[in-house]
Amino acid sequence: MTVLTGIGMTSQRTRDRMVRRLAEKGIRDPRVLQAMAEVPRHLFVDEALAHRAYEDTALPISHGQTISQPWIVAKMTEAILHDGMPEKVLELGTGSGYQAAVLSRIVPQVFSIERIDALTQRARKRFRQLGYRNIRTKTDDGYKGWPSEAPFDVIFVTAAPENIPEALFDQLAEGGRMIVPVGKGPQDLLRLTKTVSGIQKENLGPVLFVPLLEGVVR
Ligand code: SAH
Repeated sequence: MTVLTGIGMTSQRTRDRMVRRLAEKGIRDPRVLQAMAEVPRHLFVDEALAHRAYEDTALPISHGQTISQPWIVAKMTEAILHDGMPEKVLELGTGSGYQAAVLSRIVPQVFSIERIDALTQRARKRFRQLGYRNIRTKTDDGYKGWPSEAPFDVIFVTAAPENIPEALFDQLAEGGRMIVPVGKGPQDLLRLTKTVSGIQKENLGPVLFVPLLEGVVR
């Protein structure tokens, strides 16, 4: 028990340091900084890499996938909050579950789809252990979205399709936004807004994500 508390306290200090660095690098939204100070990122990486969990780098999470760099998580989360609080967010690419966990501390409902079943199961277990009850996950091909839960206020894509996944706009509420890295590595991080007169597009800059692939791995 004492040992566990010790680890918890140490990680809170390192996490606070990570958050201070994010603020220095231009992350301003207090809700994002607060959520990232709260979510124990070291529980979302392999134990052998836990000591590096609060460095500002992407890390491997098995199955050839990666947990995104904290700065990217912060930047993308900030990007969906700047014009009002979304009610329902759909993430494609659960991976470790870290991004969904951060989102869940800010928005009411998070849905997240992962194509590799082993990763879905592991993320789900972490959410349960941490008591994050407003996240629902499933193993599926994210290109299909989650039609029974649509419309979403935000669709948040954390793997890169080669082209904008246009079919998913049907599952976006009017005024809703899609954040998506598009292209073949390095990609452009796009913020697309669905309006009555069509899709508005903003380029938030270059990023590097693993590809969004089709099909499911069981
Ligand atoms: N958001 C994650 C990082 C994502 S890495 C985190 O915070 O850890 C990208 C993830 O997208 C990988 O786990 C990969 O398996 C998944 N992925 C790739 N193509 C997908 C698809 N079509 N549908 C759902 N998930 C997909």
